[in-house]
Amino acid sequence: MLDPAHPIVAMEGLTRRYDDTVAIDHVTLEVPRGTILGIIGPSGSGKTTLIRMLTGTLEPSEGKLSVLGQHPRRFTRHTREKLGYMPQHFVLYEELTATENLSFVAALFGLLWPKRGRRVKEMLRLVELWEARDRRARQLSGGMQRRLELACALVHDPLLLFVDEPTAGLDPILRTKVWAEFRRLRDVGRTLVVTTQVVGEAEYCDRVAVLSKARVIALAPPEELRRMALGGDVIEITTAQALDATRLENLPGVRAVHQDTPRHFLVVAADAATATPRVVQEIHAIGDEVVASSEYRPSFDEVFTALISQADGADADQAEEEDRGSRRRHAARAA
Ligand code: ADP
Repeated sequence: MLDPAHPIVAMEGLTRRYDDTVAIDHVTLEVPRGTILGIIGPSGSGKTTLIRMLTGTLEPSEGKLSVLGQHPRRFTRHTREKLGYMPQHFVLYEELTATENLSFVAALFGLLWPKRGRRVKEMLRLVELWEARDRRARQLSGGMQRRLELACALVHDPLLLFVDEPTAGLDPILRTKVWAEFRRLRDVGRTLVVTTQVVGEAEYCDRVAVLSKARVIALAPPEELRRMALGGDVIEITTAQALDATRLENLPGVRAVHQDTPRHFLVVAADAATATPRVVQEIHAIGDEVVASSEYRPSFDEVFTALISQADGADADQAEEEDRGSRRRHAARAA
């Protein structure tokens, strides 16, 4: 039995290579029980490879991995029954109806009548396929098939659910509903690991692992990611008259000032709530006035772009440093 305090998923130095491609490069992270971990990254960053290792369909090249206290390659049937997996390309039985597909998966997981019938009905309603329940899977639209796949992953009420890009191809309204369902599941103690390319969906997760080029470049709650991307809280200020905003740089708690026009600038601060009154006071002291001030909340698109470019910048710096080191060693050898 898994200790309830033990993380439900734990990986350390997890690595997967395909010939000369490193698809996942020394990833270390844990997923506490009853939380949603979002794995967000551009196409090709390694999301599917990671999920496939977690579900036991792909062998890691290196590193430690534990899911529900076991290595996925050695899952017992009992453990498998506690897992739900919605892959990116699920295979529905095209000739079976929506109800039959769902009922088939429920039967595989050992659900008996009348519970099976009840769960199938609940799931069809949840994903809004009740009206289409007697249509064959091949007659359903792409979005409807995706919803049916989601219902198949949820029908046996898994303790831990892996979902690979669940909202791809869904309209925004349904996307919101799918996330509301994920959060409801989380609230009743389920654990979810969800990959997505839709960065706005970070908002719905408890923690987000940002994946770029096979590595986790940030792992934090969504609000924390915002702060990491910008270097702190950001206050947007407009003044009545032209002002040299560099004068605010030395105020306590202010980390940086970015001025774009003589009357408009952004102040990066450790904490917006304490820095804002100080900044406003200083502007008054200079003899100017604040016309508008508000906390600037960047979109997650901006946050991810900033985090990924910071990581790329750090990579470039390291490569340059290594290059310099190697040139120094060559020079030393030549001397
Ligand atoms: P994502 O899900 O984020 O799009 P993937 O995990 O599918 O990323 O892929 C990560 C990297 O591994 C990519 O460079 C991809 O080309 C490579 N890759 C994935 N699967 C294979 C495979 N079966 N053989 C060789 N390379 C692969």
